[in-house]
Amino acid sequence: MWEHLLSRLPEQGLSEEDLFKLMDKYRTMNTVDWASGSCSGTVYSGEPELTQLAAKTYGLYAWANPLHPDVFPDVRRMEAEIVRMCCTMFNGGPETCGVMTSGGTESILLACLCYRNLAYERGIKHPEMLCPVTAHAAFDKAAAFFRIKMVHVPVDPETQVVDVRAMRRLISRRTCMMVASVPQFPHGTVDPVEDVAALGKRYGVPVHVDACLGGFLIPFMEKAGFNLPPFDFRLEGVTSISADSHKYGFAPKGSSVILYRNPDLRKQQCFSQPDWPGGIYATPTIAGSRAGAIIATCWATMMHIGENGYVESTKKIIATTKFIDEGLRKIHGIHVVGEPKVCVVAIASKHFNVYRLSDAIRVKGWSLNPLQFPSSIHLCVTYVHTKPGVAQRFLDDVRSSVAEIMNDPQAECGGAAAIYGMAQSIPDRTLVNDMAQIFIDACYSTSQPVSNGEVHSQTNATMHSSE
Ligand SMILES: *Cc1c(COP(=O)(O)O)cnc(C)c1O
Repeated sequence: MWEHLLSRLPEQGLSEEDLFKLMDKYRTMNTVDWASGSCSGTVYSGEPELTQLAAKTYGLYAWANPLHPDVFPDVRRMEAEIVRMCCTMFNGGPETCGVMTSGGTESILLACLCYRNLAYERGIKHPEMLCPVTAHAAFDKAAAFFRIKMVHVPVDPETQVVDVRAMRRLISRRTCMMVASVPQFPHGTVDPVEDVAALGKRYGVPVHVDACLGGFLIPFMEKAGFNLPPFDFRLEGVTSISADSHKYGFAPKGSSVILYRNPDLRKQQCFSQPDWPGGIYATPTIAGSRAGAIIATCWATMMHIGENGYVESTKKIIATTKFIDEGLRKIHGIHVVGEPKVCVVAIASKHFNVYRLSDAIRVKGWSLNPLQFPSSIHLCVTYVHTKPGVAQRFLDDVRSSVAEIMNDPQAECGGAAAIYGMAQSIPDRTLVNDMAQIFIDACYSTSQPVSNGEVHSQTNATMHSSE
């Protein structure tokens, strides 16, 4: 029975004991040991103490729903406080505001929706957004969902930060927003927000700062002793910021914030239907009902860690990233892409197919994200990697793997290296799209008995650079 995936409800419900036994079995499918640091990104804290805190808090708020603030005024208050605390982190004045969302993607979708609606209001029929090619794919998703034309802005091939002059040249009467990332996901480099914000101000174009990844690191960098040029509401041109509490905020998955310079902007993303027979209906985000428990666990996590806690985790994570960056630069045969400023280090090679390196270190227990255009791989450093010995072990394993590969740099490669190298060289991108769709279908398949769980974990590792 265990080998076959379920396709109908059990006729008789399981006792709690049987249920947890069954979940024990399900968990044997998980063979990746993220707790020892093997994953890039993925689990940002993993501290057992925070797991306990979240589980306890969840228990208290499992039925809460902020759609009913009259019934759950405490959750309404928590959400408002989270948003206000985040506004303060990003040096927003009293006019700044925002909402909580289900994650970075929803935060980005809502910002794009806001600027599209604003453009419509200004009489722009076919709005366009200017996005560095390195900005998160969630912007492409927003463009597709909301019928905004995506205009990709090139980045400097060496530094991987957006080419601001190219961005300026691409501004038109249709431009509804511009994007800068702090840091961007692929290489962890930081776009010149000051310059983009200045452009925005000069041309009257809203600027969104994507701090989904860095949102709970960059506000604390100064206190942690690291420099970063200004990136927040102190820059006049910055009109919105997204920050993921479920990444370095260390809250459980399912929360993020989108912040706006003023309530007029926030209004653009909110929906209300005054004539519904079900009542006057108004919601701030894409969802209707939302999980009050996710808001409560996020609030509890932020309150428990506090500013000093985040300064401390920022110190550790950025110091570890720098340690890895410096170590990698000493290894012959590979190079670090651009200048990692926060929490991501990307590796490329002029000597061999760099995906061979991800295959080689996967055998040693590391699972890195494959990147493309140009071929590279990255490690997103989380709190897990700051534990004693983890970063050194990573550098040692990369060094020995690179040395092996450099014995025969041009060797034929198989595995993920072959697939990913090939996928990039297919000129017809619709074929790659088809492949991605097959992957999604496979994730929902219940027809095949699975041995040891994984739905083509290879495909997953190759296909999907998630966060
Ligand atoms: C993770 C991430 C996102 C998207 O966030 P999700 O929470 O995965 O939806 C957006 N931008 C950047 C830079 C990110 O790292």
